[in-house]
Amino acid sequence: MQFDTVIGLEIHAQLKTASKIFCGCSTTFGAPPNTNVCPVCLGMPGVLPVLNRRVVEYALKMALATDCEINRRNQFARKNYFYPDLPKGYQVSQFEFPIAEHGAVEIEVDGKSRRIGITRIHMEEDAGKLIHDNHEQVSHVDLNRTGVPLIEIVSEPDITSPAEAAAYLKKIHAILRYLDICDGNMQEGSFRCDANISLKPVGSDKLGTRTELKNMNSFRNVQRALEYEERRQRDILLDDGAVAQQTLMWNPDTGRTTSMRGKEEAHDYRYFPDPDLVWIEIDEQWIESTRASLPELPQQRRDRFINDLALAPDTAAVLTGDRELADYFETALAVFNNPKKLGNWIVSELVRELKESEAEVEAFKVTPQALAELLTMEDKGTISGKIAKTVFAEMVKNGKDAATVVAEKNLLQVSDEGELLAAVREIIAANPDQAQQFRDGRTKVMGFFVGQLMQKTRGRANPKIANSLFARELAD
Ligand code: ADP
Ligand code: MG
Ligand code: ZN
Repeated sequence: MQFDTVIGLEIHAQLKTASKIFCGCSTTFGAPPNTNVCPVCLGMPGVLPVLNRRVVEYALKMALATDCEINRRNQFARKNYFYPDLPKGYQVSQFEFPIAEHGAVEIEVDGKSRRIGITRIHMEEDAGKLIHDNHEQVSHVDLNRTGVPLIEIVSEPDITSPAEAAAYLKKIHAILRYLDICDGNMQEGSFRCDANISLKPVGSDKLGTRTELKNMNSFRNVQRALEYEERRQRDILLDDGAVAQQTLMWNPDTGRTTSMRGKEEAHDYRYFPDPDLVWIEIDEQWIESTRASLPELPQQRRDRFINDLALAPDTAAVLTGDRELADYFETALAVFNNPKKLGNWIVSELVRELKESEAEVEAFKVTPQALAELLTMEDKGTISGKIAKTVFAEMVKNGKDAATVVAEKNLLQVSDEGELLAAVREIIAANPDQAQQFRDGRTKVMGFFVGQLMQKTRGRANPKIANSLFARELAD
C-alpha cells in the first residue's frame, strides 16, 4: 500500500512593533520578568484595549506580499481557554473575519516549482511564558510577552513532503524578513511553526486523520519531526491501525514525538466577537498605499538574478532566501562585476563559513568590499584559486583584508617561468618513471607533476604556467 503525505503549517510570526498590540508596553525581548506589563496586558478588570495601528499595517503588508484577498472589514474575537500564561482567560485573535484569506506563495524543491495556498492570515496577541524550574519543582510565569502582536499564517494542506514543508517555511520566513516586520528568530520564538500531517492512500481525495506537531525551533527540526511522524503514521496504517488525532511534542534530543494532549476543536474555544474592540475597516487607499510601499520580494529578486545576471536558479534561490545575503551579494557585485563567480563563491565558501561560525551576515568579519577585492586578485592571477580559499579563511578569522594576508603570508602566485623552472627540472629528474609514462603518451601524469610543484611552492605556482613548463621540459 502506498500513501500520499499531506501537510499544512500554522506559522506564528511576532511583529516587530515597538509596543504591544492593545497597550503601550514595550515588546523588547529579554527584559526582567514581568516588567513590560500594565493593567491592560495583565487583564485587570475594567480596562479597555486600544488597537496598535502598526499591527494592522504589518499584517496588511504580509497579506499583500502573499497574494491574499483583504477583508476590508475584519474583526477580533475571543478564543477562550484556561492556562496560567493567559491572565484574561481568553486570547484576542481573529476567527470568522480574519484580515486576509486565499493567498499563495511559490516554492521550489528539486528544481520543481509549486504553489502553496494560504488559507488565512489573522492578527492576534501572544500569551505569556511559563518557566519550569525542575530543580525547585515550581513553575514561574513571565507576562512580558502577553499582548505582543502576532500574525498567524495558515497554509492549505497543499504540502506533500517534509522537504516542501521546510521550503515553504523558509519562503514565509524570507518574505517576513524582506518586509522587515518580524525578526524571524526561531530560537527566541519570534517565528514559530506548528505542523499538521496526515497520510492517505495514493490518489484518494479524502484526507486522513492528522496529528499536530509542536516544539520545533529550527527549519531542520521541522523537517526531521515531519519525517519521523510520516514514518510513524505509515507504520500504523500498514499495520491496519488508526492514527489518533492528537497534538505531539517534538523532542530534538531523542528525535521522536511524544503525545501532549488530545486535539481540541474550534468549538471548544467558544469564539465570539470581542465586544471591547470595534470592527477594523481598511479602505482602498490604505491597501493601495501599502501595496506601493512593498519592497522587492524574494521571488522577484530571484527572478531578476536569474534573468538579468544569468545566475543558476539554485544559486539565486540561496542568495535571495536571506535578504542580508542578497544585499551582501549586490554590494560586492558593484566592485567585482562577475555575478556568476561571485554568486558561486558566496553560496559555497561564504555560506559554509556562516554555518560553521553560526554567524549572521551582518556580523560577518569579511565585508562585501573585502570579498570583492579578494576575487579581483584571483581574477587577475595575483593569487591562485586555491590560495584564495586560504586567504579567505584568514580573513574570516581576523578580519584583515586580502592584500594584507597575501603580503604577510607571502602567498603571491608565481607566474614567472624563470622562478619555477629549476623546481620543474628537479621534479622531473626525481621522477623518471612518470616522465617516461608521459613521453609514452599517458598525459594524465601531468596532474601528478603539477601537484608536486604545488607542494613545493605551497600552492603558489600558477597552474597554467606550470602545465606549459612541464609539457615543454618533458618533451625535450
Ligand atoms: P486547527 O484546529 O489546528 O486550528 P485548522 O483546521 O485550521 O486547524 O488547520 C490547521 C492546519 O492543518 C492547516 O494548515 C491545514 O492545512 C492543516 N490540515 C487540516 N487538515 C489536515 C489533514 N487532514 N492533514 C494535514 N494537514 C491538515
Ligand atoms: Mg492548530
Ligand atoms: Zn501592557
